[in-house]
Amino acid sequence: MWLRFNPARDALFLDIDGTLLDIAPTAREVVVSHQLIKDLGCLHDKLGGALAFISGRTIEDIDGLFAPLRLPCSGVHGAEWRLSSRGPIKNIAPLSEDFRNKIIDAFAKMKGVRVEDKAFTLAVHFRQSPEFAEKIEKTLSSIIEKADKDLLLVPGRKVFEVSQSSHDKGQALERLMSVPPFKGRRPVFLGDDVTDLSAIGACLKRGGIAARVGQGNKTPQNAFADPDAVRTWIKTMMIELA
Ligand SMILES: [Mg+2]
Repeated sequence: MWLRFNPARDALFLDIDGTLLDIAPTAREVVVSHQLIKDLGCLHDKLGGALAFISGRTIEDIDGLFAPLRLPCSGVHGAEWRLSSRGPIKNIAPLSEDFRNKIIDAFAKMKGVRVEDKAFTLAVHFRQSPEFAEKIEKTLSSIIEKADKDLLLVPGRKVFEVSQSSHDKGQALERLMSVPPFKGRRPVFLGDDVTDLSAIGACLKRGGIAARVGQGNKTPQNAFADPDAVRTWIKTMMIELA
């Protein structure tokens, strides 16, 4: 495995969908094996706690997926965070209900399109209706343009997310890196998507290493072909560290 990892001095940050878990037809249908939960729990211990998720999902959703495991994490692209497994969940101010309803209403009649209201952001999923991509982008751009808040349209895999410009995954990584047990360690980040680029940037700026997963790119920085390769890497590490 190319990614040399030192559990005594590195901190590991993992994106979830497309990195650790295979993309499913809908975000709710992803498969999390008992073995993976066990491996991650074990890895968390071996790293002295310096293992965290940085995801677009809400922390509540993440906890549900990986139960009973609870990791430090940042959810909704840095809009919420829990700096330690047992710590409280904190967050930025949510978007107004009026604004959120405007977006929910805009897509109510578009078949196969699902709006996920994450309070701080809204994700418009179209995994089941990819033909609507352009229309969704146009509609969202126009709503954002008229909004009185500084908002961004962030494209992901079969999803557009309306996000406040005050947070991203890079800030999420910075926030976690500012506290023990992450502080002072070298950050290692694994992600697969455009939304992970800010975290990759933050990671490299700190002298860390980052890898993008999948997308057919076989450069050394992109040695993980798919989430299965990431899971195998984790499992191999657990065997080596045993
Ligand atoms: Mg991802």
